[in-house]
Amino acid sequence: MHEMGIASSLLKIIKREMKRSKLKKLKKVRVKIGELTAVEPEALRFCFETSIMDTDLDGAILEIEDVPLTGECVDCGTKFRFQHFVSLCPACGGKKIEKLTGTELDLVSIEAV
Ligand SMILES: [Zn+2]
Repeated sequence: MHEMGIASSLLKIIKREMKRSKLKKLKKVRVKIGELTAVEPEALRFCFETSIMDTDLDGAILEIEDVPLTGECVDCGTKFRFQHFVSLCPACGGKKIEKLTGTELDLVSIEAV
């Protein structure tokens, strides 16, 4: 499962970060998930919670921010949200679209003590 791999790499980063900052208890993790990554937020949450169960990190909360897929038309500069992945500018019908958001899969912050 896609999400299990993501959860384990997130946890790897978190553990390294906590060790470096000498933190003991993980409270909250915030991540950003772009629409284009096709990551199922609930599946990721499930994998995260299963992975930390009965470990030092048990009880930590995963906060997921969904980021919609948006783009900007190269020709007229209109910014818009992609609908059903049809990449035509809604203002001028242009086909040259630059992706702005929606491809990110970021660890935003961790809260730990
Ligand atoms: Zn346009």
